[in-house]
Amino acid sequence: MTLRRLQLYTKVLIALTVGAVFGVLANRLAFSGVVITYIKPVGTAFVRLISMVVMPLVFASLLVGTTSLKDIRSLGRIGVKTLAFYLCTTAIAISIGLLIANGLRPGVGLPDDVKTELIDEAAGRQSVEAARQKPSLKDTLLNIVPTNPIRAFVDGQMLQIIFFALLMGICLTLIPAERSGPVVRFFEGVNDVMVQMVHIIMKLAPYGVFALIAAVVADFGLEILLLLLKYCVAVVIGLLVHVVLVYSSAIRVFSSVRARRFFRGIRPAQLIAFSSGSSSATLPVTIECTSQTLGVSRYICSFTLPLGATINMDGTALYQGVSTVFLAQLYGMDLNLGQQLTIVLTATLASIGTAGTPGAGIVTLAVVLQSIGLPLEGIGIIMGVERILDMCRSAVNITGDAACAVVVASTEGQLDRPSSGAA
Ligand code: ASP
Repeated sequence: MTLRRLQLYTKVLIALTVGAVFGVLANRLAFSGVVITYIKPVGTAFVRLISMVVMPLVFASLLVGTTSLKDIRSLGRIGVKTLAFYLCTTAIAISIGLLIANGLRPGVGLPDDVKTELIDEAAGRQSVEAARQKPSLKDTLLNIVPTNPIRAFVDGQMLQIIFFALLMGICLTLIPAERSGPVVRFFEGVNDVMVQMVHIIMKLAPYGVFALIAAVVADFGLEILLLLLKYCVAVVIGLLVHVVLVYSSAIRVFSSVRARRFFRGIRPAQLIAFSSGSSSATLPVTIECTSQTLGVSRYICSFTLPLGATINMDGTALYQGVSTVFLAQLYGMDLNLGQQLTIVLTATLASIGTAGTPGAGIVTLAVVLQSIGLPLEGIGIIMGVERILDMCRSAVNITGDAACAVVVASTEGQLDRPSSGAA
C-alpha cells in the first residue's frame, strides 16, 4: 500500500511513533534544543490552524442546528441528557481514580531523600502561583452570559458563544421566515466552509503530530518520569479502566453503535488530542469524526461536543483524584471517607471549571487540594510529569464528549447512517 493511500488515522499513528522515537534520540543525543527551535513550531502552527476554525464552526453549526429543530422543547431534553451524562461520568471517573490510588498507594514508599527533594523543588514553581488565583464558582456561572458577543468571540469564550448561538437560533425561529431565511442560509454557508477547512487542515495532521510529539519527548527528561512512575501508572491505569468500562458500557447500553466501531471512529480525534493536549483545539476533528464516521447528526454534535470540550473533563477529574490521594500519601496524611467524598465533589466542580487547553487541569487541581487542606506546593511536585499526563487525559476527555454525543443522538433518534472516513 502506498503512503498516499493509507488512511489518515494510520498516517497520524505512524507520525506519532516516528516522532516519539525521534524525540527520544534528540533527548539522548542532546539535540533537543534543535527540535524545540525548528520542529516544534510546525506542531504549534498545526494546533493554531485547527484552533482557528473552532469558534466560527461552533457558532455557525449550533445556530443552524437550533433553527432546524422541529420542536424547540427537544432542546431542553437534549440539554438535560447531555448534562446528566457529563456529570455522572465525571463522578464515576473520580471514584475510579480514588479506588486505584488507594489500592496502588503510589505516594507511599518513596525514599525520604527523594520526597524532600521533590517538596523542596516544588516551592518556587510558577504553577503554584497560577493555581492560587482561581475565579469563584459564582463568577464562572455568571460568565456564561456574554455582555458583548463580539468580545466573546475575540476572547474565545466557548460557553458564552454557545449561549449566544442557542438564543439567536431560537429567536430566528420566532421571526417570519422571509426575514430569518437569508440569515440561516448565510450561516449554513459559513458552516460548510468551516467543514471544508477542517478537511484541508487535517491533511497536515501527520506533520503536526510528528512535530508535537518529537518536541515533548525531546524536552522530557526520563529521570523525573522514573521518579514518579508509580503515580503516572496509577493515572494511566485509571484512565484506561474508565474508557474501557464506562464509555463502552454506556455505548453498549444506550446506543446502537458497536463499542469497537465507536473507538475506531474516534481514534483520529484521540490522536490529535493526545499530541496537542487540548480538547478545545481538537474540537473540529472530534466533530468530524463523530458526525462523519459515527453518524451522529450535526446538530447533536454541535451542541454536545463544544459543551463537552468546555465542561466535561473526565480524564482531568480522574487525574485530579489520583493526584490528590498521591500527594496526601506523600505528605503522610490519611484521608477519611468524608475527605474522599469532598474530593469527588470538588474535583467534579474543578474539572467543569477546567478549560480545554494544555495544562489547565493542574491549575484547577488547587481547588481540590485546598478543599482537604493539602499545601498547594504539591502541584509543583507533580509538575515534571504534567505534560505526559495532560496528553493522556485530553484524549480521554474528548472520548467522553464523543460517547455522550453518540448516546444522546441514539436516544433522540438522530443517529444517521455514517458516511465513510473520518475527517
Ligand atoms: N488539557 C486538558 C484538555 O484540554 C485539560 C486539562 O489540562 O486537564 O482536555
